[in-house]
Amino acid sequence: VAPAACAAVVKADAYGLGADRVAPALAAAGCRTFFVACIDEGIALRAFLEDGDIYVLAGAPRGAEGEFARHRLRPALNSLPDLDAWAAFARSAAAAPAVALHADTGMRRLGLTPEELALLAEAPDRLAGVKVACIMSHLACADLPDHPLNETQCAAFADLRRLFPNARASLAASSGIFLGPAYHGTLCRPGAALYGISPVPEQPNPMTQVVELKARILQVRAIDGGESVGYGATYRASRRERLVTVGVGYADGYLRSLSNRGHGYIRDIRMPLVGRVSMDLTVFDASAVPDEHARPGSIVELIGPHHPVDAVAADAGTIGYEILTNLGRRYHRLYRGGEPAAAEA
Ligand SMILES: *Cc1c(COP(=O)(O)O)cnc(C)c1O
Repeated sequence: VAPAACAAVVKADAYGLGADRVAPALAAAGCRTFFVACIDEGIALRAFLEDGDIYVLAGAPRGAEGEFARHRLRPALNSLPDLDAWAAFARSAAAAPAVALHADTGMRRLGLTPEELALLAEAPDRLAGVKVACIMSHLACADLPDHPLNETQCAAFADLRRLFPNARASLAASSGIFLGPAYHGTLCRPGAALYGISPVPEQPNPMTQVVELKARILQVRAIDGGESVGYGATYRASRRERLVTVGVGYADGYLRSLSNRGHGYIRDIRMPLVGRVSMDLTVFDASAVPDEHARPGSIVELIGPHHPVDAVAADAGTIGYEILTNLGRRYHRLYRGGEPAAAEA
């Protein structure tokens, strides 16, 4: 995105991957600006991120302004009342953190409305004492490159930039970056793309996969044609089949909507998920896998090079974001690379 800077969105525990490990790795790689959803995430992040700007997208709850100062968190101010409350705090506090002003240019979810921005332009005194370090807005249709709302929002954001020429300008999240430099402003804000989710649906994913999810086979069994599998007997074998059962289920965020629709891989052999995903267990039809590779203890790839996160999401009828942010707490997590330089000392 150069010459723009690139921030990292690490909300929802870095999309389920562990912000305590992901954020320091990104910082070690040169990332200086981070976005989280809410104050608790900001406080947690500051504990393992000594430097760097941390923006809290939900803004500052009334009465929590002091916590923002204590932990050096920057609120995104999302309305005129938000701005007025922060301005009152900033004028009374010794060193109030800088803020982001979030304008709604068409998402209609969060941010100052066009009417509020017009009021603000007429009464700039309301900003007295407030350090606006960043102006931001969010695109509603960035993953649909031809959608006319993209240009509408881009133009509205350009107007906003003229009001705050000295603030950093941030419009693009993952997909917005791929709409081209006109959308980059001076600070991009990707989340999903950092974690390997495709920012350009319908096109080959330009991002490297960073997440693998593997499960071990607990049991192998043969069933005859006509026999059923799992709760509700929703799958019935049409012939003799060899099934493998792995110890992963919906309590691990392996979504129940994958029932009879998901896939696992042993080596490069694709196995259909059969029956319902249950809380702790899932069954695959391993009939095509040679015996020696489908034994108790053998590894099944649930997310990985053969079956990337977007493919799992397609099986489940959802988006990669929901697959990652649901990854459960029972997994044994291994992090490869990305050690902060200080850890070597
Ligand atoms: C979640 C979020 C992002 C990151 O979006 P991705 O599509 O994951 O890159 C950026 N900005 C805002 C306001 C968000 O809520």
